[in-house]
This record gives sequence, structure tokens and C-alpha cells, in this order.
Amino acid sequence: MQRVAVLGATGSIGTSALDVIARHTGTMRASVLAAGSKVDALLALCHAHCPEHAVVADPAGYAALRDGLRAAGLPTQAHAGGEALDALVAGDACDTVVAAIVGAAGLPSTLAAARAGKRLLLANKESLVLAGELLMRDARAHGATIVPIDSEHNAIFQCLADGNPPARITLTASGGPFRGRTRAALSAVTPAQAVAHPKWSMGPKISVDSATLMNKGLEVIEAHHLFAVPADAIRVLVHPQSLVHSLVDFEDGSTLAQLGLPDMRTALAVGLGWPRRIASGVGALDLLAQGGRLDFEAPDLDAFPCLALAFAAMAAGGTAPAVLNAANEEAVSAFLQGRIAFLDIPDTVAATLDTLPMQPADTLEALLAADARARTAARTRITTLPAPTFRP
Ligand code: NAD
Ligand code: MG
Repeated sequence: MQRVAVLGATGSIGTSALDVIARHTGTMRASVLAAGSKVDALLALCHAHCPEHAVVADPAGYAALRDGLRAAGLPTQAHAGGEALDALVAGDACDTVVAAIVGAAGLPSTLAAARAGKRLLLANKESLVLAGELLMRDARAHGATIVPIDSEHNAIFQCLADGNPPARITLTASGGPFRGRTRAALSAVTPAQAVAHPKWSMGPKISVDSATLMNKGLEVIEAHHLFAVPADAIRVLVHPQSLVHSLVDFEDGSTLAQLGLPDMRTALAVGLGWPRRIASGVGALDLLAQGGRLDFEAPDLDAFPCLALAFAAMAAGGTAPAVLNAANEEAVSAFLQGRIAFLDIPDTVAATLDTLPMQPADTLEALLAADARARTAARTRITTLPAPTFRP
């Protein structure tokens, strides 16, 4: 029986993971569920999946979680805080960890899973952007198997299954809700418009990242670490149908791609079952029913400068990707709260990278210090920006 810890269980990836796990009750079960602060949603998941442990990251939620579990007569043990979560991830309560916490907050538990040699289903791309070299080194040293869950990286993982090295990787991007718009036309877009993704149903932070193309920038850095490919061997193509999830070129002239409907349960089933294929609940792709077209175009770096900022941060190395990621998290949060305009997101990231020149960083402490400095610098800048005219 595969025992799975689902971190970020109440989120978009977490609930998709639980949907796949529930289809395979004979071979796997959710043994640990963890969420940020939504105790009611976590309790509902405990009812449905009856895990051994439930963790709420926010200690203020502990009493409500413990009392709710008791009142429901569930055997699930309640825990609170990051340290309790990391200990459960590293201990024998699970063999597999679905790392689906959003943002840099997911790094400690992701690292704990890698250092404990678990099968790590990695959706939390920010941990790779912040500390990719460290995370990959620790995973290798402790025998952890990383299966990327990001659809593009999961596609590449599948294309690389025979062990041959890639000559070049092409990450596909839907282009987000504002594909085809000029930079000027983006000045007044609202959070509601930005999170309305045309193809994927996702949490608010990654939806805004998809609208700015920062998501693709983070994914370029993610691919660089996961597959040990240099920046000049990674390309991005906009593919509005979101059916080709990525492509890999090999030295013999072959290009392999993975296709499927845009539903994260496929990637999660690959991670949970690998190397076996298991049912995910996602139907087969019918290309004619999907419109019979596969279109590709180059990304517009003028309207969506975040992609170029991410390539530049990756090339700079050291603390630069950590600064990029932290400034972006702060800017996206301010945008979602209606405090800054959409175009202030790339401007805040660029200004923060300018303010904090790259420093070499080979320890976790140095990277976390850079993350903290970048958040302070970004927040300071955000307070100087005029409030946008829309209200969230
Ligand atoms: P979401 O906002 O829907 O869910 C986030 C989850 O993280 C929630 O369960 C929340 O309670 C939990 N959380 C937040 N802060 C926490 C903390 N400090 N400690 C513990 N739990 C915390 O986000 P999502 O869309 O599911 O994305 C999760 C991660 O997966 C992100 O890193 C995202 O980039 C990545 N990802 C998501 C998708 C997708 O389709 N949604 C695709 C690829 C990659
Ligand atoms: Mg993706």
C-alpha cells in the first residue's frame, strides 16, 4: 500500500491528487493531509479520505482542527505548524509526498521529503526556482525520486523515460488570458480577468503568473534544474490549444512530445503510478473534437517581460532566481489585493532585481536571506506605487 502525504491538500493540485488516489483504494491511500489555514476545507477532506494525520500550517487553526476531528469521531491526529509538517513528511507516515503548497512556503517540506529519500511528486515549482541546485543535490544524495507534476515537466519526464539526454527542450505555454494583447492594452486589466485562465483551472497565484508569463519563466528555471539542461537549450513556444504539453529534441533529429487534455490528474497519475500507467479519470484526447488544430507562435516579450526577466535571472545565477521569485510573490499578492496594477508586477520584479545585485549563494541560509531581502525591497516599492483604478 503506497501511503501518500498530500501537502496543499485543499488547493487545486491537492484536490486533483486526492481524486486520483481515491480511484486506487486497493494500492494507495492518503495518509497525511496538510493545508495552510482553511480548517473547514481540511476537515471535509479528512471526512472523505480518513488520513492518519492532518496538519494545518497556521497554529491558530490547531484547536479547531483537533476539536473538529474529535467531534466527527475520526481517528486522524491533528498537528500544526511547519516543523510538525516537516517531521511527518520525513517520518514513516508516508512513502510518497505530493508537494503542492503554493510559493516559497513549500520549500522546507519539499526539502524534507527529498532528504528523507521519498518519492517526491513536485508541483511546488517555486522551491526549485529558489533552491534548485540544493534540492536536486539533496534528492540525489538521499535517493529520492522526483517526478515533476508541472504538466510541461511531467511531459518532458515522460519523453526522457528511455534515459537518452535531450538536445533541446521546448516548453509550451497557453499564452494565458491576455495572449495577443499589446503592453498598453494590459494596463487596466483586473485580478478577475487575470485569474480567468482559458485552458487550465488553477489556484490564484499560478493563474496570475500564467497571465504575466512569469509562470513560464519559473518553469524555464525549473526545467534547467530538473533535467540539467543549459539555458540556451530551453525554448518557449506559445501553443494556445494546451494539448501538446512540451517537446524534446534528440541528437538524431527526433522530437518527442506528450499530448493530453489539460487536466493535472494525468500528471499526478504518472507520478503516483510510475513506471506503471494507472487510471486518472481523464479521458483520451480526441484531436478532432478539440478543433483539429495545433498552433504554435513565439512569445511576445514586449507585452510579457516576465519571461525575459526569468531567463536573465537564471543566467545571472546565485541569488538572482530567489530574488525574482520572492519579488514576484509579493507583487502578485499585492495585485490580487487590488493594491497595484497588472503591469506593476513585471516592473516590481525588475526593480527588485536591479536593487539587489546577484550574490553567489550555495547555502540554504544565503538563499533564504536573499528571499527575505527581496520581499522587503518589493514591499517597500509597492507602497510607493499609485493604487490602480479597478477594485478587486
Ligand atoms: P492553490 O492556491 O490552489 O493551493 C495552495 C495550497 O497550499 C492550499 O492547500 C493552501 O492551503 C496550501 N498552503 C498555502 N500556504 C501554505 C503553508 N504555508 N503551509 C502549508 N500549506 C500551505 O495552488 P495550486 O494551484 O494548487 O498550486 C500549488 C503549487 O503547484 C504551486 O506551486 C503551483 O505553481 C504548482 N502548480 C499548480 C498547477 C495547477 O494546475 N494548479 C500546475 C502546475 C504547478
Ligand atoms: Mg506548467
